[in-house]
Amino acid sequence: MHEVDVIVIGAGAAGIAAARRLAAHRLSVAVLEARRRVGGRAWTAHVAGLPLDLGCGWLHSAEENEWGAIAQELGLTVDPTPPPWSRRALEAGFPLAEQSDYAAAWARLYRRLAEAADEKDDRPASDFLDEGCRWNPMLNALSSYINGVELDRLSVVDFSNYHDSGVNWRVVAGYGTLVETHARGLEVALDCPASLLDHSGRRVRAVTPRGEIVARAAIIAVPPSIIAGEALRIEPTLPDKLDAAHALPLGLADKLFLRIDEPDDFPAETRLFGATDRVATGSYHLRPFGRPLIEGYFGGRFAQKLEDEDAFASFAIDQIASLLGENMRKRLHPLAASAWRRDPFARGSYSYAKVGHADARAVLAAPVDNRLFFAGEACSLNDFSTAHGAYRTGVKAADEVLAALAGRAVHRRAGTR
Ligand SMILES: Cc1cc2nc3c(=O)[nH]c(=O)nc-3n(C[C@H](O)[C@H](O)[C@H](O)COP(=O)(O)OP(=O)(O)OC[C@H]3O[C@@H](n4cnc5c(N)ncnc54)[C@H](O)[C@@H]3O)c2cc1C
Repeated sequence: MHEVDVIVIGAGAAGIAAARRLAAHRLSVAVLEARRRVGGRAWTAHVAGLPLDLGCGWLHSAEENEWGAIAQELGLTVDPTPPPWSRRALEAGFPLAEQSDYAAAWARLYRRLAEAADEKDDRPASDFLDEGCRWNPMLNALSSYINGVELDRLSVVDFSNYHDSGVNWRVVAGYGTLVETHARGLEVALDCPASLLDHSGRRVRAVTPRGEIVARAAIIAVPPSIIAGEALRIEPTLPDKLDAAHALPLGLADKLFLRIDEPDDFPAETRLFGATDRVATGSYHLRPFGRPLIEGYFGGRFAQKLEDEDAFASFAIDQIASLLGENMRKRLHPLAASAWRRDPFARGSYSYAKVGHADARAVLAAPVDNRLFFAGEACSLNDFSTAHGAYRTGVKAADEVLAALAGRAVHRRAGTR
């Protein structure tokens, strides 16, 4: 049996941030990672010579985002081009006059949600739609991209807690590449899922297919879906944590990358809406970074359906051809698609709080007995669903470990005197 100071379970943005912090303080750290790669939901796949972010892509709240500074330290280029959603969309199927009308509906909804955040009882965001408004399906589709769920499952309180500076940048080599590069030098046991964390004894004990490991403390940095489904069991059971994890499911957002022939026919960094009259639609980012690509985005129940049917590429090509012409069919070539719900180590894309349960984030994040600590985007009160939120919770958990272990050392010294 191997013994270390701290076990970190999960090598996503949160686990890596935690492990680096602890290692910098000369603690021995074992990072256990279920997949054969680090990064978790930060994942840059390299296909046809192109770095494709199948998970996070945008440095949200970029000017405040720690990953921006880390990218600079690592010599990775950050591109400050504003995102396509901050500019007008392609007019195919969505004339400019309609775009303004839609933007006004969006602004009205946002204003009402902000006002409702102070109400005593939480409510689903769908309560604040204009009844019968022509833009409701599209507002729902947008919510499914942003939150992973449609407005009927979106908690107004949780949504209002989210902080967004409105500045969004990207890493040219990929957000996943950035997170992976930041992990270099750490000892990470890959392909090593922890199935049990036992905290009944003097030391905490993690069980993996490769053996057991004991430590003075553990940081659990897996998605709440893994805790809720007990793919990682914690013994003795922590009912508050299980309830909190169940109250914070992962919504679904999936990406598809298509290579496009003769890309110069299309404006770079532009958005194309697949349809404006239904929830079941994709949104398409034309030529990100000027590359010969279309990046499709799908969310919520519709993404689930497309995952189930393995139909991202066929659906997207049909939709794009219906807007830009039938000859598009032979110009588009599928490169890669995500399927985050199917992924056994994520089971979704990013957390949302069930209506009435925004406080579950603080419950999930709270330490237990000063030796079990929790990290991951779902533990963030204001930056959930992001890679920088995950990073911050990892650093916070590591600081809590450092304080706890220092406290215990002082305690022991005081006891011996
Ligand atoms: C399609 C998509 C688009 C996104 N876009 C953005 C964006 O533009 N900007 C942004 O900031 N965020 C975005 N996000 C969200 C962002 O990727 C996540 O919030 C962040 O990466 C989560 O980091 P984490 O460390 O909390 O969790 P994860 O990255 O999920 O890390 C948890 C780790 O735990 C591992 N694990 C699971 N079970 C076990 C086990 N039993 N034992 C050991 N290891 C285990 C997993 O394999 C994983 O590596 C996006 C996500 C998706 C899916």
